[in-house]
Amino acid sequence: MIKKLNYIALIMVFLIPLFAVPTNVLANNNENKTLRELYNELLKVEEELKRVNNDKSLTKSKINQIEKNIVRLDNEVVAIGNAIVKTEKEIVKLNENIASKDKEIKELMKFFQLSTGENMYLEYAFGASSMTDFIYRLAVVEQLTKYNNQMIDDMNNMITQQEKKTKELAAQQKNAQVKRRELSSEQVKLGDRVYSLNENSMTLSEEIADAKKTIKNYEKLGCKPNDILSVCSRVNGDVSFARPTLQGLITCGWGCYGGHRAIDIGGIAGENIYATAAGLVVDITWGSTCGGNYVTIQHKVNGKSYASRYMHMASIRVGLHQNVTKDTVLGTVGGYAGGYDRCTTGPHLHFAIANGVYGQDFWSFGSYAINPVNLINFPPAGVWFSSRYRMY
Ligand SMILES: [Zn+2]
Repeated sequence: MIKKLNYIALIMVFLIPLFAVPTNVLANNNENKTLRELYNELLKVEEELKRVNNDKSLTKSKINQIEKNIVRLDNEVVAIGNAIVKTEKEIVKLNENIASKDKEIKELMKFFQLSTGENMYLEYAFGASSMTDFIYRLAVVEQLTKYNNQMIDDMNNMITQQEKKTKELAAQQKNAQVKRRELSSEQVKLGDRVYSLNENSMTLSEEIADAKKTIKNYEKLGCKPNDILSVCSRVNGDVSFARPTLQGLITCGWGCYGGHRAIDIGGIAGENIYATAAGLVVDITWGSTCGGNYVTIQHKVNGKSYASRYMHMASIRVGLHQNVTKDTVLGTVGGYAGGYDRCTTGPHLHFAIANGVYGQDFWSFGSYAINPVNLINFPPAGVWFSSRYRMY
């Protein structure tokens, strides 16, 4: 008895996943969380992004300050350089002055020696008009020599001072250059920091965009803040597709009229439309625009995600977030020209299927649409069928 029960249990384990077990639309690690937890996670990432962006703008303003300081230091180095050149010119000038004073002294000395030496009389004979004049001249020469010597001493002092000043300036210039080098390497470091903060901010922005998309999708699937996501996003699984109407014919196939990414099933005004496979109603649109009223259903068929869409409906009989089976009537075929639906020439069902998860992988079927005929057995265009499963 126990053995037999075990056997049955084992069969059940294998069969349940194939037929009955509802599967989660979003296969990721959010399953055991609530929608509120996703909101909180999103908030955290948004705060992190804010912090990174603040850090970035702070670092940028630091870099601006450093750039200003570098410009200031460069100007300082140039100004000091000019001052050094000026001081050096002054030293040259002073040296020239000293040389000329020296020359004067030497000439005076020559005169003095000449006058006090054996040529005294000669000098007296040629230069001075009298002895008094001669003595007076000697006194003046002595005074002048003294004066010139004083001048040379003064100028030598000035040269010493100017040389000292030049050394100080050179030291200042060196300091400015060292400081500038430090600022430059700081600037490079901060630049690297901005770069990595930028990368960080881009990653966080992507994370935020993804999180928002995921949240929007769970909301679309009917999840409320306190719902466990694996429960509220549950989609009935299925193992096959069926035609969405009991009868009809394909009046416009995949690619007809150029770029038709669906099939039109005609000849069935007012008839019931069924879900092509078990699933969850993820969108109901009421509208008088092209396509009129339509229903979108999310499916999981043999573990693969699809969405199906039924357009030009005259009535809709399901609700948003309702779980459906293949036998659920979604509504009735419309598409009457001149009615609520602007974009049709006669009653028909526009039936589209897309690969993936609606609201996560795509919102518009567009490039995700696949030819329904590749998944569901349909007779060729223009051939009438009168069953959802049999060929004709
Ligand atoms: Zn169509």
